[in-house]
Amino acid sequence: VKRIAECCCGQLKLMAAGDPVWNGMCHCDNCRKRTGSAFGLSAYFKSSTVQINNGEASVYKVSGANFGGDQLRYFCKNCGTTLYWTMAEQPDLIGVAAGCFVTIALDKPTYSASTENKHPWVKLPLRIKKQ
Ligand SMILES: [Zn+2]
Ligand SMILES: [Zn+2]
Repeated sequence: VKRIAECCCGQLKLMAAGDPVWNGMCHCDNCRKRTGSAFGLSAYFKSSTVQINNGEASVYKVSGANFGGDQLRYFCKNCGTTLYWTMAEQPDLIGVAAGCFVTIALDKPTYSASTENKHPWVKLPLRIKKQ
C-alpha cells in the first residue's frame, strides 16, 4: 500500500509505502497548537519508505523528551500546514501528520499519548494503549 499525504494547498507532498510503525494520537498542548485541533494524529514510518516531493518547505525546531529530542518540523511555505518531522533520537523514522493523508485512510490509532490532558468529550477508540 502506498499513501499520499499533502498540505492544504497541495504543493508539498509525500508518499509513504507500507503501514506505519506507530500510529497514535496525542493530547498534549503542543500537538493541539501544531494542528489547531483537539489532538494530534501522528503516523511514524521508516524513513527509507517515505519519498518527499520537492515542494517548498520551511522548518522549525522543538526540543525535549516529548519530541524525541530535537524535532524538526517541516511545513508548507505557502499554506503553513505541518506535513512531516524528524527526531534526533529516532533518526530512522519520519513522523507524518496523519490528517494529511488524502488517498488511503490509516487504521485507527494504536496509542493515546498525554491522555491525562485529553478533552473530556474526546472518546478513545476501544483497546487503545494509553500513555
Ligand atoms: Zn501548502
Ligand atoms: Zn503531543
